[in-house]
Amino acid sequence: MMDIQNQQFQKPLVIAGPCSAESREQVLTTAKDLVDKATIFRAGIWKPRTRPNSFEGVGEKALPWLKDVQAETGLKVATEVANTEHVEACLKAGIDILWVGARTTVNPFYVQEIAEALKGVDISVMVKNPLHPELSLWMGALERFNLVGISKLSAIHRGFFTLEKSAFRNEPKWELPIKLKRLNPDLPIICDPSHISGSTQMLAEVSQTAMDLNMDGLMIETHYKPSVALSDVQQQITPIELGVLLDNLILRSSTHPNAQFRSALNKLRQEIDIIDKKLVDIVGQRTAIVQEIGRYKKENAVTILQIERWFEILSSRKEWGEEMTLDPQMIAELFELIHKHSVLTQSHILKSND
Ligand code: PEP
Ligand code: MN
Repeated sequence: MMDIQNQQFQKPLVIAGPCSAESREQVLTTAKDLVDKATIFRAGIWKPRTRPNSFEGVGEKALPWLKDVQAETGLKVATEVANTEHVEACLKAGIDILWVGARTTVNPFYVQEIAEALKGVDISVMVKNPLHPELSLWMGALERFNLVGISKLSAIHRGFFTLEKSAFRNEPKWELPIKLKRLNPDLPIICDPSHISGSTQMLAEVSQTAMDLNMDGLMIETHYKPSVALSDVQQQITPIELGVLLDNLILRSSTHPNAQFRSALNKLRQEIDIIDKKLVDIVGQRTAIVQEIGRYKKENAVTILQIERWFEILSSRKEWGEEMTLDPQMIAELFELIHKHSVLTQSHILKSND
């Protein structure tokens, strides 16, 4: 076992506060209990609701309550803006941080308008991922703020809407924030486990995954009395519960000062490199056979797809995978990808003139 006891681990930036600002008392009571747990206090003022006639936020009258949070607790305050009037009201009130919600990030017109209203303003902006898993739309929104000179930018990963049955309110699809980080290594990414989970049960697990993926912060909906919350009632926790969640997080370091650890890791990575090279060689060999099959089918005027063969491939490969204790879902996804490209290769052959 490696000694990890004495290392300094960087704590995540914690953003906490209710889904919605409901009353001055609710805002202040919650904020005061968050002083030693969070750096930034969040509260929605204008709430984008899926259906009309639900609580749509209290609007501008909550801005002075957020000012009181700043003055009485020293916490920075953040709220969601969805149009230029929201931006102007927040700037006038001296809100520290603005965020763009998932329902706004989907629309480049809205994002552009908000960005232009912030031209020349020195303020932090956080951009939530769009509702659906389209990385370029998320990046496009961030770029629009970058282009008007907002340099204090960060992204919030709040999960993605899915029609498939899921344990999550919004599927995390961790590969998307990971790709965002690969393309923008300096961009802080904050995870919002509340909107990913949709309930309090999975908050700790999602937060831990975010930490293990080296994300920079957590935005967690917190209410002094979650049962009476006017929005997102199932997913909010109390400040005390937030404290427990944060205390139980295992923080690991993305680097390790120990040379022995680094050299052991390098060795394992070299082994992975060798195996990946073999994998690519084998994919090359498989593709060569696929091309031969494609030419053969063409000569004999046979369709590319024989559905029974595809079912047979999928089920036998999943069985082989299970024998190796591999996740059948992973094997299914792997062969769906391989098969997709096999069909594409054969279809190119069919269309070519030779
Ligand atoms: C929120 O943060 O309360 C909210 C509305 O989030 P999202 O835009 O992620 O749905
Ligand atoms: Mn919410």
